[in-house]
Amino acid sequence: MDLDLSAIPILDQHCHPLLRDGGGALAPVDYQRFFSESGEAEMHARHAPTTIFFRWALKELAALLRCEPAVEAVLAARARAGADALAGRMFRDANLAMLLVDHGYQTGASYSHAELAMRLPCRLAQILRLETLAQDLIVRHDTFDQVIDAFVATVEEARAAGHVGLKSIVAYRTGLAVSETSRGDAAAAWGPVKERAKRDGRVRLADKPLNDYLVLRALEIAGRQALPVQFHTGFGDGDLDLLTANPLHLRPVIERHRRVPFVLLHASYPYVRELGYLAAIHPNVWADLGLAVPFAAAEIPAVFRQALALAPTSKLLFSTDAYSIPDIFWLAARWGRWGLGTVLEEMVGLGALAANEAMDVAREILGGNAARVYGLPWEAT
Ligand SMILES: [Zn+2]
Repeated sequence: MDLDLSAIPILDQHCHPLLRDGGGALAPVDYQRFFSESGEAEMHARHAPTTIFFRWALKELAALLRCEPAVEAVLAARARAGADALAGRMFRDANLAMLLVDHGYQTGASYSHAELAMRLPCRLAQILRLETLAQDLIVRHDTFDQVIDAFVATVEEARAAGHVGLKSIVAYRTGLAVSETSRGDAAAAWGPVKERAKRDGRVRLADKPLNDYLVLRALEIAGRQALPVQFHTGFGDGDLDLLTANPLHLRPVIERHRRVPFVLLHASYPYVRELGYLAAIHPNVWADLGLAVPFAAAEIPAVFRQALALAPTSKLLFSTDAYSIPDIFWLAARWGRWGLGTVLEEMVGLGALAANEAMDVAREILGGNAARVYGLPWEAT
């Protein structure tokens, strides 16, 4: 028996927007790619459907949609429901009460914040993605100084513009070992970056002096404003070097910026125990468990167990890291409650937690802790 946490609302503290109109008519391979972090078409077509994640997801979705547990049947049932109705139904069933949305991903084909707010039965707030901002500014401005001035001004105004936190994907670009970088060193890297931007009309910023310098400037501002900063850590899309995404690389930065609330995303999977350690040592580190929920599927209780080994329960945050389709939000909420309920029930059985204490912990992890970190009003019933 696991604890039933279905009545506890979720504050999903890291996710991305849905695709416009559900992405249109989806073929099986288009749908299967949402269940894989690989960028390889062969993985989406042949291997993603064989994961426990996908096999289990199909059965769960088929039960919700009252159809056969086969990809074609699920896709047909989704199409019959219609994109907006499907999203509304899944979000209500998942009891997702609030989302903190990072729009710096798949911006063109996805709903804007206002469009999302019109469609979803929950509260929304935004997170500002630093690297996307920097890339836009590099394209728009001619000089290094203009870019830095505009970057600093936008980050300074982020809270006033409705963002409740910042996010860095420096792990994807040049790794988490962010080192002290002077303005001069960053300026020296500017020329070739601007050349690429001019040539292509856009730019992927992966030039360590510039990436590190911008992250450090943002951390200084976040420290003054006590603005939470999310960092991608651990696994992710195929262009990630998982070796440099170990959250332990962040330790010097965490220690130097003690007034910044660091939110380390994705359970740092597979470095979950390292993440739990950082959250146990540093008052300014919080551990997010998204993406591992739902991707780790049957192993989700193990993720919670490992995080809870060292991390105080006040330091754990829930998210889905879902994007594009509502199905991933629904599965993450459902399996996240199951995994957390399973582990908390074990703790009750052990005599480590009283039953009411376990429910309090669940309310904090599913929403209360995040509400405090971001300074959001929250009522967990
Ligand atoms: Zn994400």
